[in-house]
Amino acid sequence: MSIILSTLNARYTHASLGLRYLQANMGDLQPQTEIMEFVIGGKTTEFAERLLAKKPKIIGFGVYIWNVEETARLVALLKRVAPEVKIILGGPEVSYETAEQAIVKEADFVITGWGEVTLPDLCRQILNGPQPLMKIHVGVQAKLDDLQLPYQLYTDDDIKNRTLYVEASRGCPFKCEFCLSALDKTAWPFELERFLAEMETLYQRGARLFKFVDRTFNLNIKTSLRIMQFFLDKIAAHPDDPVFAHFEVVPDHLPEALRESILKFPPGALQFEIGIQSFNPEVQTLVSRKQNNDKAADNIRWLVEHSHAHMHVDLIAGLPGETVESFGAGFDHLYALRPHEIQFGILKRLRGTPIIRHTDEFAMKYDPFPPYTILANRDIDFTTMQRLVRFARYWDLVANSGRFAHTLPVMLGDAPFARFMAFSDWIYAHTDATHRIALDRLARLVCQWLQGQGMGADEAEALINSDYAGKQPKVADKKTSAPQRQQMHLN
Ligand code: SF4
Repeated sequence: MSIILSTLNARYTHASLGLRYLQANMGDLQPQTEIMEFVIGGKTTEFAERLLAKKPKIIGFGVYIWNVEETARLVALLKRVAPEVKIILGGPEVSYETAEQAIVKEADFVITGWGEVTLPDLCRQILNGPQPLMKIHVGVQAKLDDLQLPYQLYTDDDIKNRTLYVEASRGCPFKCEFCLSALDKTAWPFELERFLAEMETLYQRGARLFKFVDRTFNLNIKTSLRIMQFFLDKIAAHPDDPVFAHFEVVPDHLPEALRESILKFPPGALQFEIGIQSFNPEVQTLVSRKQNNDKAADNIRWLVEHSHAHMHVDLIAGLPGETVESFGAGFDHLYALRPHEIQFGILKRLRGTPIIRHTDEFAMKYDPFPPYTILANRDIDFTTMQRLVRFARYWDLVANSGRFAHTLPVMLGDAPFARFMAFSDWIYAHTDATHRIALDRLARLVCQWLQGQGMGADEAEALINSDYAGKQPKVADKKTSAPQRQQMHLN
């Protein structure tokens, strides 16, 4: 095989859509191109051995924030043992601030931006000459209609065992400065009927879990409705064999027609990921995020109260101008709306994002190593930022896990952020750990904390047992294709 397209995924279940797009668009080189995916945390020498066993002339790597360090090691190792193999890098992590990166110094070529047109051209030059002179190639952005769609490259094994990523559009028209999609300036749709025909084929092959990577699924309501109707038709035709679809939506745009469609989805079939990021209007202005907070809150409330959609809502701590108090107020506001999950993220400085313009004024200190997490800023010192990081981790374990559904509201009382922060500080002082806390131990710790807050031992135990009697998610009333965590929330 002369060309291998490779990446290190964060998990086995993540099947790389990017690699499949590249392979689908290799043209006459496709028969000599193969995908090899690995998972981060494995042995670099084993990855190299398996790649070289294919005797490639070219290896292309997809480089992302979660794999850049390990990929850099792999590339360095490959260049030591097989310097004749040409290494091409692509992906968001090497598309900006390119030249200064160690991984780029080791590689032969880099494609910045889109790769579907430029990669086969570059491979042809490497294989047939004349040899390319430049190291860094700016990727040509194809018209989406000209791209081959990649979905037939999902194998039966992918369909059975992995999350299938799909996209009905690329790009985002908004310009939130912390986000890579801010650089797109617009969104481009794929031709809808062509896209849906591919979804139909995936469905007929057994796919039931579809994760849309569109940055703003509800941008064009006509398109959103058509895609949702596709899934509703499947559910209606086979109610005992349901689908699960995940969409990222902007929170302040939920017109009536979309609401009507959402209401038709049964439990366990629909998930929305909603970015709030901050409820603080000053912070929103600073990072160029346009959001109608009242509308967003109304829509989240409506979705929680009226629909069966599973709601995963994102907040980001560490944005310029956001204090702990204003973040906490936003957190409490969001918690009161009762989404199933609050994803509490810590700001990262993604390469190329315009948030860098606030670095001096807000004394933004970022970790120089991936994932470039904020360490401190003008309003939040390093120690406090670490408390927030731990809050996020424990929130995931206790709240987002859905394992303490009855206990959580009692823990949080009428001051969710302040009380969970107190719990977070307490549990860290008692365990010195944020990971590898077994569920039994976590339940005992929660019970102990409640008693420390004045609750009687019997009452605290009874409360914990009301959640904890069923450690495993109950089988939902109806069969569902929803992942286990969403099933916990459904219960
Ligand atoms: S945060 Fe969301 S809305 Fe803002 S630019 Fe990124 S993808 Fe678009």
